[in-house]
Amino acid sequence: MAVMDDLFGVNVFNDSVMRQRLPRETYRALHKTIDDGRRLDPQVASVVANAMKDWALERGATHYTHWFQPLNSVTAEKHDAFISPVPGGKVIQEFSGKELVRGEADASSLPSGGLRSTFEARGYTTWDPTSYAFIKDHVLCIPTAYCSYSGEALDKKTPLLRSMEALSKQAVRILHLFGRLDATRVTPTVGPEQEYFLVDKDLFDRRSDLIFAGRTLFGSKAPKGQELGDHFFGTIQTRVQAFMAELNEELWKLGVLAKTEHNETAPAQHEMAPIHTIVNVACDHNQLTMEMMKKVARRHNLVCLLAEKPFEGVNGSGKHNNWSMMTNTGYNLLEPGDSPHESAQFLLFLTSVIKAVDDYQDLLRASVASAGNDQRLGGCEAPPAVISIFLGDELTEILEALEAGSSYSGREKSDMTIGVHMLPKFPKDTTDRNRTSPFAFTGNKFEFRSLGSSASISDANVVLNTIVAESLRQFADELEQAEDFRSALHDLIVRTIREHKQIIFNGNNYSDEWRKEAAQRGLLFLNSTVDALPCYTAEKNIRMFETHRVLSAVELRSRRDIGLDSYAKIINIEAETMLMMTRRQILPAVLRYTGSVADTVNQVRSASCSLSSAGNLLADLCSETDLLSASADRLEKMLSGKPSDDSAESFARYMHDMILPLMTELRVHADALERITDKGSWPFPTYDVLLFSVQ
Ligand code: ADP
Ligand code: MG
Repeated sequence: MAVMDDLFGVNVFNDSVMRQRLPRETYRALHKTIDDGRRLDPQVASVVANAMKDWALERGATHYTHWFQPLNSVTAEKHDAFISPVPGGKVIQEFSGKELVRGEADASSLPSGGLRSTFEARGYTTWDPTSYAFIKDHVLCIPTAYCSYSGEALDKKTPLLRSMEALSKQAVRILHLFGRLDATRVTPTVGPEQEYFLVDKDLFDRRSDLIFAGRTLFGSKAPKGQELGDHFFGTIQTRVQAFMAELNEELWKLGVLAKTEHNETAPAQHEMAPIHTIVNVACDHNQLTMEMMKKVARRHNLVCLLAEKPFEGVNGSGKHNNWSMMTNTGYNLLEPGDSPHESAQFLLFLTSVIKAVDDYQDLLRASVASAGNDQRLGGCEAPPAVISIFLGDELTEILEALEAGSSYSGREKSDMTIGVHMLPKFPKDTTDRNRTSPFAFTGNKFEFRSLGSSASISDANVVLNTIVAESLRQFADELEQAEDFRSALHDLIVRTIREHKQIIFNGNNYSDEWRKEAAQRGLLFLNSTVDALPCYTAEKNIRMFETHRVLSAVELRSRRDIGLDSYAKIINIEAETMLMMTRRQILPAVLRYTGSVADTVNQVRSASCSLSSAGNLLADLCSETDLLSASADRLEKMLSGKPSDDSAESFARYMHDMILPLMTELRVHADALERITDKGSWPFPTYDVLLFSVQ
């Protein structure tokens, strides 16, 4: 491996490259744009574009693209060569400021949720200069936002950037009240931990469900799963180690801070965690990480599965979203701090998150909703669909003492008063033991654990940034009017704790008791995507998003509908795949095997022997096969009756209510047959092989 200095960020037009290659004036002007969100001067853009092009050509690039993230959670790119014709049948290689800053994307096939009618199919892409350009496969990629001509967001980046603005604005108001006038900008920071599975490509190719759905739709549990706990943090298999080494190298070249790698709980499951960075960059980098995981896996004859629940009976994959807020002066606002003054400020920011999560449980749940994640949330392995916060005993005790106006025993025997007492340092590892909570405070950040492994982290962070901005807006409105800041601050924090402590739960979120208690507390239980996504357009949520200019009512509706539509389509694909596998693979295989068992039974009988086990097996095969076949017929009939031109919501509702249960039923019979059919006759690789073959 090359020395890190020659490797890290070599394919990135990063700050040191800019400093080296841009005239000082241009560099400074560009930095103003990056640091303060100023508009980019067209002349500056031209100089930057030219320098970028020269750098890219030297590094072997031939094309450029505006790299963006449409609403279907993947990335989109359309490559343009740098060439431009000159007289004499020749070309020169050019890249203008205009081409850098803005592109047109005739992307009428990308989902828009009705925002962009076909006669006005074009949208445009604009450079996000806070996320560095990079070279991938000989293409200079410029991270961009994607909007319709009328300015509506058609992508995942635009609202994320807007939500960062919103949070910054409100957080700065609060910081100024604390006298921190040097704070001019607050940026959310995120470190997303990415879980994934690796399976052998030869095995993958033999399963249509993996090919079409990215997850197994059939499969009986292997004799061994994760019960011994021997995979988590276990020695990394040689093939996997080779994959990880190459993945790291590819990510480092792209400037992704790939840091931690280990085996996860389920067999064949692994994780990569990067060091946190500003959220829009973390989001771009996470997209690149997922892309590279898939690409690099192929080079090792492996397939990387990013689906949330690729295998029944073992853990699924999520994406833990570690989130905090950082000032332009380098201060983490969720760090408890070393003085009473800092403690008070910390408590205010902490309670702003508690309030936000309680007020907008529905939005947080909706922000992680997808067909794949529904398979995972609520299993005894992933955070439940009920949102609650884990604070740890120590911090909870402090909040309780504050609320009661009593003394906090862990600290000192006098009454806790905000702004007078210093908080203890919370050891990070003692606060992070509860792995069952969907939203946990881990010492100096919150970890939102409900995100699905295949999703963009944008949706969840748009919600998180905006709802915290809303808490802070209300806090600032109140505190700015206060005559006595200290006592108003104290009252506000105590009142907020009182009103929102119902969202705090430090126990086992997987237990039945919690389910009951959560219901008693009146916390929201939005079991499926179909229940969750409509929350985007609840009156209170539209108002909140519009107040902060993050998403308009129209944009929210389009996002809700795209989510519901893709939910319904995914289930349709899965159901069709199940039918295909049942009719063309499972039934023929089982019938052949049944025939051979019947032959055996006849032969045994004609030899005047009695072999009751063969007879029993034959009977079981016949009855299960009939049940399977009848199940398939029912599923097929129900699928053909799906609503065609109804709303996305009724389509999704139909798939959830009518189709999913039939898929489950079909699977039960197929899995039962798998367990009694000769291994050599089963038409595709089974869990025991899929989960344990990569060594
Ligand atoms: P864990 O025990 O969950 O592995 P770590 O401390 O290793 O905890 O952190 C996990 C992730 O949290 C990493 O991506 C790390 O960079 C990120 N993280 C740490 N501090 C912050 C912060 N202030 N803001 C956002 N993410 C952070
Ligand atoms: Mg973690």
